Amino acid sequence: MPRPIVASISISALQHNLAVARAHAPNARVWGVLKANGYGHGLERAMRGFAAADGLALVEPDYAVRLRELGWTKPILLLEGFFDADDLPVLARHDIQFAVHCDEQIVMLERFVTDAGFHVHLKMNSGMNRLGFKPEAFHAAHARVSKIASVRSITMMTHFANADDALNPSLPLSEQVRRFQAGTEGLPGPRSLCNSAADLMHGELAHDWVRPGIMLYGGTPGGGSAADFGLRAAMTLESRIIGVQDIVPGEAIGYGSRFVADKPMRVGVVACGYADGYPRHAPTGTPVLVDGVKTGTVGRVSMDMLCVDLTELAGAGVGSRVELWGQQLPIDEVAFAAGTIGYELMCALAPRVAVREV
Ligand code: PLP
Repeated sequence: MPRPIVASISISALQHNLAVARAHAPNARVWGVLKANGYGHGLERAMRGFAAADGLALVEPDYAVRLRELGWTKPILLLEGFFDADDLPVLARHDIQFAVHCDEQIVMLERFVTDAGFHVHLKMNSGMNRLGFKPEAFHAAHARVSKIASVRSITMMTHFANADDALNPSLPLSEQVRRFQAGTEGLPGPRSLCNSAADLMHGELAHDWVRPGIMLYGGTPGGGSAADFGLRAAMTLESRIIGVQDIVPGEAIGYGSRFVADKPMRVGVVACGYADGYPRHAPTGTPVLVDGVKTGTVGRVSMDMLCVDLTELAGAGVGSRVELWGQQLPIDEVAFAAGTIGYELMCALAPRVAVREV
């Protein structure tokens, strides 16, 4: 008999959001990004939801192979590339494309003798300073990679730090675009720049391939609400009230007794805690829905339970349905209250939570 906490995953929401991504970049091909177990939604479920994508992109080589085993025949892209020379025969066998972002990878590719052909995504560091060749080194890296016998095509890619905050004074979006253009000038081949924020808000940057992730799951990449973009939440996390306490003024609730009531309260105990993926740092007042009515958490989140304020919800009690986030309560609203982002909440969904497809 399972605990009453369930994550419902809507395949039709994944399909719908993919169509939204495509509509924003009608001339580009779309990689459905499903790293981190499909942003917590499940690799296989995300694969089915993105069946209409032109390719699937992720960072885990073993999961890329798993996609082939599950029957995905269209392109697969490893966004961080490969990690060891030993990975290359596996990628060749399964026809997996990959990013190349450093000299060490180029050396491994140069030394790897194979009849197979690789489709390489040469990554530029246009300002984010994570992975990639700096603009001034890009032509040389491109020339070196194009000489490798096994390389059949080179796509030029970069990743934006602030597509959701285009005027960021430390690194405006336009500056990354300028650096990418300068570093790739005169080079032939497809280009790939856009994550969700760029796809939704800067469609003119779409070029040949876009790489949306968060929007496909119905989350906003930051700035604005997902619903305003016509996106639907693919994950709904719900549970039930399993206990109720009447509290008198002066009584404290939960570990650390951080919340002390200053009035009579009814408090519901929900079967959902940080071991389910709910953020422990969510403060008192983080929104939750009880029987469809918005209220807030009270006191510290514990491993298996959290408390919610039922004082104004006369009809609520043991057995009442609680939505932690999802179709009626945007995950971004909960994430904002907890000082994090929807991405983290989705990815943190714990394996012990039962998943139901809807
Ligand atoms: N492209 C690359 C290289 C990424 O690393 C990511 C995710 O971080 C994405 C695309 C998708 O980003 P988002 O989920 O913000 O759309």
